[in-house]
Amino acid sequence: MRFVSFLHDGKQRIGCPVGESIVDLSKVDSEFPTDFGLLIAQGPQALSEAYAAAQAASSDAYVAVEDVTYLPLITRPSKIICIGRNYAAHAKEGGVEPPSYPEIFYRGASSLIGHNQPILKPRCSDKLDYEAELVAIIGKRARHVAREDGLDYIAGYSIFNDGTLRDYQRKSSQWTIGKNFDDTGAFGPEFVSADELPEGAKGLRIQSRLNGRIMQDANTSDFIFPMDDLIAKLSECMTLEPGDVIVTGTPAGVGYVRTPAVFMKEGDVCEVEIEGIGILRSPILNEV
Ligand code: ZN
Repeated sequence: MRFVSFLHDGKQRIGCPVGESIVDLSKVDSEFPTDFGLLIAQGPQALSEAYAAAQAASSDAYVAVEDVTYLPLITRPSKIICIGRNYAAHAKEGGVEPPSYPEIFYRGASSLIGHNQPILKPRCSDKLDYEAELVAIIGKRARHVAREDGLDYIAGYSIFNDGTLRDYQRKSSQWTIGKNFDDTGAFGPEFVSADELPEGAKGLRIQSRLNGRIMQDANTSDFIFPMDDLIAKLSECMTLEPGDVIVTGTPAGVGYVRTPAVFMKEGDVCEVEIEGIGILRSPILNEV
């Protein structure tokens, strides 16, 4: 099952992609939620029913991809939990040993931006870096989950570009400020249900490309803390709720450690691709 979130005629909608079109679920049945986070919260059966209804929809419910503005897949998640240094080679390029416990920080919803929408280079910094990341989306309430059951709580996966202001990231010991500028966290376009991917989304090639040049090229099998372990460790501390978003860390090849350093600037286009999930594309624009 695949779902997307978008604006059409200025209204928030969710739908299922079909070729060059999207089935707008609000045109199938006005009872369906228009926020993907709310659909996820209704549980796995609601998700399956919505998907089945989209597959059976008549062409009246179709909208053309070029007529929509993509929204972040989930616009207001109750939690956006980000994992730092989850690939050993990325920890090494940052000059540190791989961590023994995940490095965890949060993003706020105001930092999110949809597919094909600009990531903003803010006025106060020119150190805007890309980070290709796999996203796991929680499908049911999780608390004190054993590692062997961890994957049962993941509804599906998507793609994230964890756009980071490297100078602000290190102005204090907390990374939060460098990770929360407006319109720097690109998220989407598609939700892909867990059953369409290998168990735990393992073995998927993950890449970032800046203006077509490959910058990061790794595999999700290289996680230090794989999905089931992350669910166990996080749910030991907090309740994970349906629609919560876990951004799982980026591989080696980020811009700031390169010689010379590479930062994104207006006119650039950054793409993150994950095998079996899709491509998340972000043009870069200056904040005005
Ligand atoms: Zn990151």
